[in-house]
Amino acid sequence: MSCIGIILVACLALFVAVNIFLVWASADVGSNIYVKTYCKGTSKERCLTLTFDDGPHERNTAKVLDVLKQHDIRATFFLVGKNVERHPELVRRMVEEGHTVAIHTHTHATSFPLSTRAKIKREIEHCQEAIYRVTGLRTRLFRPPFGVTTPGIGRVIKDLGLSTIGWSIRSYDTMRKPTREKVTEGIVKRLHPGAIVLLHDRCEGAEALLEMLIGEASKREYRFVALNEMLNIKGYYEN
Ligand SMILES: [Zn+2]
Repeated sequence: MSCIGIILVACLALFVAVNIFLVWASADVGSNIYVKTYCKGTSKERCLTLTFDDGPHERNTAKVLDVLKQHDIRATFFLVGKNVERHPELVRRMVEEGHTVAIHTHTHATSFPLSTRAKIKREIEHCQEAIYRVTGLRTRLFRPPFGVTTPGIGRVIKDLGLSTIGWSIRSYDTMRKPTREKVTEGIVKRLHPGAIVLLHDRCEGAEALLEMLIGEASKREYRFVALNEMLNIKGYYEN
């Protein structure tokens, strides 16, 4: 191969490598490239914390709250602002029952990661405001939709002084195919001390999955702790 050929191949390889890196940096919630993200606790003890995204949901959230109450477990709900406006009573119930409520943007638009910085800020602040209006609490925890982060999201999070929360175990509970048993098995076999488990209270049968997960994790002597306790961070700004 000629000298020019070698240089061209090297440039192409570099281009591909840079693009692979950029995709990973954005798509992997734990990449920590654009924003520092908490994905697990540092505890060496068998403990985990449950997080629920996308709610509150008109039918399924209350059932999830019933199961959590029955087992005396405190979870964190990453809420969609427009759903907060639709079901404020569910958000108030979350707070009354000791759960943490947090930001998951106002509309959960698929275009969110590609939005302008101003739009990203609006989406986050609108959600924070919606939660504040119904609970009187100003949450400082944020989870990016789809776990995708970008330089724009990183900048806004920094400006607003929020903490970003990812996960160490994705349940894949939103997928159509796997049964509840399979989803539970998938979570349980990846359990580790300080695990942050990603679930969705909007899913049909979320309460039955939760019940099964609590049973299996408890059998393995795992204890359920609140997110702020696990990470030793504050969930809210002081008013
Ligand atoms: Zn989501």
